[in-house]
Amino acid sequence: MSLLEVAGLTAGYGPVRILHGIDLDIHEGDVSVVLGANGAGKTTLLRALSGMIPAKGTVMLAGESLIGKASEQVASRGVAHVPQGRGTFTDMSVEDNLKVGGYLLKDKSMTSAMDRWFETFPRLSERRKQQAGSLSGGEQQMLAIARALMSSPRLLLLDEPSLGLAPNTTADLFSSLSQINNETDTTILVVEQNAHLALAIGDNAVVIESGKVVVRGTAAELEKDDGVRRAYLGY
Ligand code: ATP
Repeated sequence: MSLLEVAGLTAGYGPVRILHGIDLDIHEGDVSVVLGANGAGKTTLLRALSGMIPAKGTVMLAGESLIGKASEQVASRGVAHVPQGRGTFTDMSVEDNLKVGGYLLKDKSMTSAMDRWFETFPRLSERRKQQAGSLSGGEQQMLAIARALMSSPRLLLLDEPSLGLAPNTTADLFSSLSQINNETDTTILVVEQNAHLALAIGDNAVVIESGKVVVRGTAAELEKDDGVRRAYLGY
């Protein structure tokens, strides 16, 4: 079943149009991967979907239009956006960052939601009183994701979660994402440069070039696509 239907989406910055009519059909429970070169418009796509920048066209979440809604309204409908560069509150503790993510929860559900995500990310549990700014890059990325998950989103938008992380940390992060998707059925849309790892956990994928979708298919199909292999997989 479709969770997010996007048709003819255009968006940009001021007079400059970056997205030129994007169509996407994201199914409930899927992991969808967005690939594309630097500057292709991947970050702009996530910003347009989460209401951070104005957009035109059709964006329907479970049958309800998100076009024209501010980012808080989009978030309250179940779309959590983890931007590039993570954006944790660096001077707050790990626990307090998670509390911000779950600010709508009552005390008891707050505690059980935190326990839930500490179980998935034990490294955060060990560092729960530590300031977020003193965490490693990988731990900060885990925290940003855990914070987004505190609101039990229907759709999790992730912008290059592997950016700046060591290969082992990236592999661990992707296996956590796969686990989260399997255990909670959270639908995930992930923009990622590390195409190999992303396609390994993805159900389907698109390639964006100059603000348009130029290739789409299952993750397995894209792994085999010659152009995708040359450009993003390096073999
Ligand atoms: P990368 O992988 O390098 O992050 P991307 O595919 O995410 O690339 P975007 O960040 O969406 O690309 O950028 C697409 C285009 O929009 C680029 O030409 C960029 O310079 C431009 N752009 C991005 N942010 C802004 C902004 N705030 N104001 C004006 N132009 C912007």
